[in-house]
Amino acid sequence: MIYAIASGKGGTGKTTVTASLASIWETPLTAVDLDVEEPNLHLFLKPEEMITGKAHIEVPDADEDKCTGCRACSELCQFKAITVMGDTLLTFPEMCHGCGGCIAICPEKALTPGKRELGEIVTGKSHGNEFIMGRLRIGEAMSPPLMKQILNDLPINSQGDVLIDAPPGVSCPAITAVMRADCIVLVTEPTPFGLHDFRLAWEAFSPIGKPMGAVINRAGVGNNDVYDFCREKDIPIWAEIPFDRSVAEAYSNGYVPVKAIPTLKPTFESLKNSMQKAVNEVSHA
Ligand code: SF4
Ligand code: SF4
Repeated sequence: MIYAIASGKGGTGKTTVTASLASIWETPLTAVDLDVEEPNLHLFLKPEEMITGKAHIEVPDADEDKCTGCRACSELCQFKAITVMGDTLLTFPEMCHGCGGCIAICPEKALTPGKRELGEIVTGKSHGNEFIMGRLRIGEAMSPPLMKQILNDLPINSQGDVLIDAPPGVSCPAITAVMRADCIVLVTEPTPFGLHDFRLAWEAFSPIGKPMGAVINRAGVGNNDVYDFCREKDIPIWAEIPFDRSVAEAYSNGYVPVKAIPTLKPTFESLKNSMQKAVNEVSHA
């Protein structure tokens, strides 16, 4: 099963929740950092035997001598990544989404597959589990193609569960990360800002129709509005992680909270059980 740990905004503790879950989950597990613009799950899981590979997207290479300027490619491209200006064929690789349509449609075979570097995919081992991380190339604007490459290569079913550390927010990258999940965990905090982003996340993700529950991080600060919202929308609260200086210290020192503070272990065991139960209830419905 695939479990995505998401949040409406950054800084809620999504990555430390993912790292804590990975530390207590049964092996085999694959822990995936899909926050490709700012990956930091590796700082907590400290994977070893790291292998780094480049990831690319297919973009058209043009042979202008063969091009007759028929415009079939530019009429097809939804992203304005290829166009004809006068007699000149222009390509904009940074805007290309790699659909391959222009290459397939060109009647003169003037377009052939080229490539643009998206970033890196890093794999490794962490305490007997698999670890995968994407890292977007500096200057690359589109993270979903890199995320999709990682998702397409996941060892689903054959090698245990997958935990995804999703990018923050509710835009296209976050949706890409949660679309393939069997269950979504929303990490929030009980503050007005927390509620605002939690509400946006719930509105964005609930139409996907996956089981979804909340983790209230830094419980004890702020007010009860997040709890009221959960009650109103029937969102189960799967865990509350108390606001505690020792949790913040563990985080800032790069320690997985559940390992640094053993009293948190029952909280994360209970969270894991709730996640698995939610998925099982759907698969047996
Ligand atoms: S479809 Fe081919 S021939 Fe037509 S404008 Fe595009 S590249 Fe040129
Ligand atoms: S591959 Fe697709 S997105 Fe890229 S230029 Fe061609 S039609 Fe546009």
